[in-house]
Amino acid sequence: MIPDIERRSKKEIKAYQESRLPELLIYLSNNSRFYSEKFRENEIDIQEIKTLEDLAKIPPTSKEDLQRRTKGFICVDPGKIIDYNTTSGTLGEPVTFVLTENDLERLAYNEYLSLACSDGKPEDIYQMMVTIDRRFMAGIAYFLGLRKMGAGIVRVGPGNTSLQFDTFNRIKPTALITVPSYLVKMIDFAEENGIDINKTTVKKAVCIGEPIRSNDFTLNTLGKRITEKWNINLYSTYASTEMGAAFNDCVYGLGGHHHPELIIVEFLDEKDQSVKDNEPGEVVITTLGVEAMPLLRFKTGDICYHHSEPCACGRNTMRIGPVIGRKQQMLKYKGTTLFPPAIYEILHEIDFVENYLIEVYTGELGTDEIVIKVGCRNKNEHYEKIIKDHFRAKLRVAPEVQVWTPEQIIGLSSPEMNRKQVTFIDRRK
Ligand SMILES: [Zn+2]
Repeated sequence: MIPDIERRSKKEIKAYQESRLPELLIYLSNNSRFYSEKFRENEIDIQEIKTLEDLAKIPPTSKEDLQRRTKGFICVDPGKIIDYNTTSGTLGEPVTFVLTENDLERLAYNEYLSLACSDGKPEDIYQMMVTIDRRFMAGIAYFLGLRKMGAGIVRVGPGNTSLQFDTFNRIKPTALITVPSYLVKMIDFAEENGIDINKTTVKKAVCIGEPIRSNDFTLNTLGKRITEKWNINLYSTYASTEMGAAFNDCVYGLGGHHHPELIIVEFLDEKDQSVKDNEPGEVVITTLGVEAMPLLRFKTGDICYHHSEPCACGRNTMRIGPVIGRKQQMLKYKGTTLFPPAIYEILHEIDFVENYLIEVYTGELGTDEIVIKVGCRNKNEHYEKIIKDHFRAKLRVAPEVQVWTPEQIIGLSSPEMNRKQVTFIDRRK
């Protein structure tokens, strides 16, 4: 299922998005306290915003704006709100994000389009190995999207490997939705228990939260580790609560496809200027068709490459590459610009590293300092040097490395209230 607009020319896609701008700007002006004030304070005449380029006249919205003034973003009466979610904020406290009936319908349509883009079909059975509760939006989005598609769904949730395999036997799923690193655990479990993982009915996995591809779209260490042992297709997906939209790989695996009826995307540099194809930029989004909390030029903090050439799948929409890092987590280390995922990728290549935690702090001279704590089963005096050599080879710099046991790392990186295991702690001033 490919919507007609996605097969149209670049020019037609742009014209279509511009045709949707007036309704959004009028809606925000009438219903959003935050945006109506923003238009007034910046003397913006919304009738003058006609093209995507004109959007540059409106100052971007930051995560801090959303955190400090959450209520000012809500455009509907409390009685119209159905689903309440939270998303991690930048100032420590989570941000509450709400959806109406129409927003849930839009979310379902988005996820249906995205999963269909990742080769999903009504005859598929999806094993959902992700959380559907805990105030997360993603799980409910998958459920609603699959329901719209007409696919089968079995909600197993994360963890509990033996229950995952039991479900393979009982329900015979063809597709998984999971964090990809968990697939490595599944492969290990299968080997330990004499299960031939390639005899299961699983054909594909939609991989959330962690990259499986490098910037050139070849599989990264994690992606390779999975597919070397398990003959399944992996599909990346990029999404966030604020966007209420997802960018999924098609079968060609060349970046997540943009669905123009749901969201406008810009890629900006540090001075809020548009970057070209082949330049990294911060993903800045404007939602279309959102009722409760629409966003205009919202800076996601994610740094990505984007690609404009048409795809062999028939879609002419923009594709978004793997997240190379979070803007806030950018590290300046010994003259090199680094993002934590590049550090993770190197650690993933080293067999004896079971888990890890990256800590950064401000050094005496105001510089970024990095400590890499790795969990290793059988400690060996050479480990530290081997790890440092990997860093020198790949990044030309070697941060401080400390070798711990895997249990110690888990203790350090799983504070009780945190729903995700922490791999990066920023103690910079
Ligand atoms: Zn494609």
